[in-house]
Amino acid sequence: MSTVLNFNAGPAALPPSVLEKVQAELLDYQGRGMSIMEMSHRSKEFEAINTRAEANFKRLIGAGDGYRVLFVQGGASTQFATVPMNFLPAGGTADYLVTGTWGEKAIEEAAVFGKAHLAASTKAENYRRVPTPGEIDLSPEPAYVHLTSNETIQGVQYPTFPDLGPAPLVADMSSDILSRPIDASQFALIYAGAQKNLGPSGVTVVLLRESMLEKANKGVATMLRYSTHVKNNSLYNTPPMFGVYVLDLVLQWIDGLGGVAAVAERNAAKAASLYDVIDESGGYYKGHAQADSRSKMNVTFRLPSEDLEKQFVSEAQKAGMVGLAGHRSVGGIRASIYNAIDLPACQALASFMGDFARKNG
Ligand code: PMP
Repeated sequence: MSTVLNFNAGPAALPPSVLEKVQAELLDYQGRGMSIMEMSHRSKEFEAINTRAEANFKRLIGAGDGYRVLFVQGGASTQFATVPMNFLPAGGTADYLVTGTWGEKAIEEAAVFGKAHLAASTKAENYRRVPTPGEIDLSPEPAYVHLTSNETIQGVQYPTFPDLGPAPLVADMSSDILSRPIDASQFALIYAGAQKNLGPSGVTVVLLRESMLEKANKGVATMLRYSTHVKNNSLYNTPPMFGVYVLDLVLQWIDGLGGVAAVAERNAAKAASLYDVIDESGGYYKGHAQADSRSKMNVTFRLPSEDLEKQFVSEAQKAGMVGLAGHRSVGGIRASIYNAIDLPACQALASFMGDFARKNG
């Protein structure tokens, strides 16, 4: 059993019951006398995992017919490139809503492949919120519109998704995938690196509206074409088997909790336990995000000084709470509380925060 409360931003905590199952099956997967990592990706055992994980993910995210789930490699960062490579046609424009560091990276990468239009940005306010509908300036006929549902570094999350018109909507959901119910039919493509809410790093999940393939660009390298992975059920080449195996277990764990709606309720209570301390601290803790854009996955805040922030991180560590330093690019404190973190862990951190403010205020 893990002996720390793990608030890492990703790779992040996994459900203890999943890790125990992995441990129990590691040397001998279902009586085969070898681990899942040592058998063929064409074996019936792995095909069963691949098929089940695909079906369960699709059901949990609420995607209907016409959508495909893909397990690919290269992380969300590769998706920053493969989305425009496949779906930004020559002479076309892709629109990007940028609400933090990952959105910046996504639009920079799109600009390598074609015209990327910054349709909204909250950078002038240091990425404290998502744009208002009135601030979104779409180009006349975007090939697609891209947004980042949760900005992991700034801790800024769309509470609901804006109506962005008829263009296909693409979302980077790396840090809040399956953390709350969404209307999947709003999206043409969703991608997420697994290492926060779904499993270990090394596998990236893509939900794709299959009709998108009709207008996909030609001349894209085989491994970087979505159609390759669709045609081959994510088994074109050797997949990240261990990652898909753990992801399958995490999806079953989500079902065991009662599905995404139950997970969302739990996540709301967890986030509230921390934001309440921030709001009731009389300004000692200053949340980074504006209240209406607060992330339920990454709670970001500052203390009165950088010295106090260092002290906070080091005392928290001594109290068994790790991973609380903000991203190196922005500083401050960040508590990442993905699906696998439970309410008691957040309450323990909330109580530590209260005590720290009283002692050092
Ligand atoms: N997008 C978001 C929202 C992220 O949080 C991250 C990773 N922290 C990435 C993209 C990049 O993901 P990867 O490391 O899987 O390429």
